[in-house]
Amino acid sequence: MVNKKDIKILTEILDLEDVKVISHRLHSGIGIILQTESKKSQSICPNCGEISHKLHQNHRHIVKDLPFGEKPVFLEINRRQFKCEKCKKPFSEELDFVRKKRTYTKRLAYKTIQEVLENDIHTIASKGIVTTEEIERMLKDASEELSDSRPLNLKRLGIDEIALVKGKGHYCAVLIDLDTSKVIAMLSDRTKAVIAEVITGWGVEVLDRIEEVSIDLWQGYKNLVVELMPNAQVVADRFHVMTQINKELDTQRKREKRNVEELIKKAKLVADKTEYEQILEGLKSSKYSLLKNEDNLSEEQLNKLIEVKSVSPILKVMHELKEKFRKIFNKTNDWYTGVFKLGMWLSRAKKYFPKSNNTIIRWFDEVIAYFDNGTNSGTVEGINNKLKLIKRSGYGFRNFENFRVRCLLNWHINY
Ligand SMILES: [Zn+2]
Repeated sequence: MVNKKDIKILTEILDLEDVKVISHRLHSGIGIILQTESKKSQSICPNCGEISHKLHQNHRHIVKDLPFGEKPVFLEINRRQFKCEKCKKPFSEELDFVRKKRTYTKRLAYKTIQEVLENDIHTIASKGIVTTEEIERMLKDASEELSDSRPLNLKRLGIDEIALVKGKGHYCAVLIDLDTSKVIAMLSDRTKAVIAEVITGWGVEVLDRIEEVSIDLWQGYKNLVVELMPNAQVVADRFHVMTQINKELDTQRKREKRNVEELIKKAKLVADKTEYEQILEGLKSSKYSLLKNEDNLSEEQLNKLIEVKSVSPILKVMHELKEKFRKIFNKTNDWYTGVFKLGMWLSRAKKYFPKSNNTIIRWFDEVIAYFDNGTNSGTVEGINNKLKLIKRSGYGFRNFENFRVRCLLNWHINY
């Protein structure tokens, strides 16, 4: 029955290290069943580290593996028990390709998680390879593995936040490795205490090695860095400074619109009314034309920008200042020029952006620190946008844990 050549080919196709196929059968309606065995004849005692050759017991059971075409594949594996000569106790061997007490191989879990990231659990379960319960278990295992890992090579850390449910005021903190552009951790809250607990858990060796921490303009984060990461320079992430400037510009846009609407109501002369209505027309739907980077505007948005600038002198100046600010940070890569240009900007912007102006002055050291090492441009922004996308794709993220796992796996799928 068992053909040696078949077995050799099947072992090659199976492609699991140190595993060989012993026999195979095909059950219609079930799939392919491969009986496998380890090529190793010994195992290491988890208790004392001694190598044992003494087989104590065979323990065979069936796990699912990656399907072959449309056909499900099952492996009949043997997780043997060895007896340790030293401890005099039996132990069951570690198998690289399947976790203990799991009904599927690691690579099936890996592939399933990848699929779940692009789809929802029910769609994947409906394919009939893995059940909903198994998928949930896979996600949980992966998430625990991720939580346990410490960022040993972390040099530049970014602290960001994202609203869990928009407008509800509940934010979660996001910790980012700025060099690898990966999310390291997602925390249920953005309070100093919650972040401190996680960061402290990394250990002093990790914290001492951190050279730079990029934060948004919040004193709590700054204190955190000073207390826990003594060798790190605090850098104000330009993405957050930019966000604040945009917010102020948008507030002014709304104010302009309200003012002119008031004027229309109160206008007594038809000529006045017509003029105000033209202004209102120019202000309408101008939000994105004003806020988006000018380089990225579509032709239609560009026309709108020209229109809104022609009806509102104040928005014209504010828009130009906003773009100027962005360019200073895009194009300046030495500290002295940066400080000089930013100083010029502040003196011009004082009247138009009083809030941002104050913030930048209060955080001047941290803002200009950006010019020392401006390489993180875009990282935090990119990750923030990706997180919003994942959130928006909506898979019942009212549950934070669900959201967290999905986000982390998105960046660490090669676990
Ligand atoms: Zn032992």
